[in-house]
Amino acid sequence: MPKEMQDASFKNVYKDDKARVPIIKYFKEFMEHYNDKEKPKGLYLNGSFGSGKTYLIACLFNEMAKKDVRGILIYYPEFLRSLKASFGTDFKEKFDEIKKVEMLLLDDIGAENNSSWARDEILGPILQYRMENHLPTFFTSNLTLDELEKSLATTSSGVEKVKARRIIERVKQLTITLDLISKNRRV
Ligand code: ADP
Ligand code: MG
Repeated sequence: MPKEMQDASFKNVYKDDKARVPIIKYFKEFMEHYNDKEKPKGLYLNGSFGSGKTYLIACLFNEMAKKDVRGILIYYPEFLRSLKASFGTDFKEKFDEIKKVEMLLLDDIGAENNSSWARDEILGPILQYRMENHLPTFFTSNLTLDELEKSLATTSSGVEKVKARRIIERVKQLTITLDLISKNRRV
């Protein structure tokens, strides 16, 4: 995780932006209900580049870490690359760690080089496991869920709408969708 995300804190969240209010409200509820029998759902946070999606979720993860809840934020396109590079070495450890961690953020889903391998062998099983075990799972994306579905359908193996649909169904089971439409905060 980059340093600025390690330091992300609710104390520093811009308060001038109404777009953040529903997200902060959701986070409060998430923290209140984390120890319920059924853990709260994660977020599918959709929005434009630089609007602060990753930063906001990093705030929540850092807050939960203070309560000893372990979360991992992974930049999804890079995770796929490193997973591929770990064939024959620690592939299974890497894969299992992501599958089983208490809280997971798949950051920038939809920005990866999509392949049927990534969709069917990696993403599908991770989401399936996390769904069955009620493990809170978060996504950020520049794409809406409809756009993500289209993107996942098309790989070099052709257009496979049913397989993409199945992934989206899991994402929907795991999350509630919120938008963060805001100006670019990157400097
Ligand atoms: P996104 O993930 O939507 O592309 P980021 O979360 O990377 O956007 O945010 C863009 C930039 O703005 C980053 O440098 C981040 O540190 C900064 N930033 C975003 N939200 C805040 C905030 N609430 N307080 C301080 N800095 C922020
Ligand atoms: Mg981001």
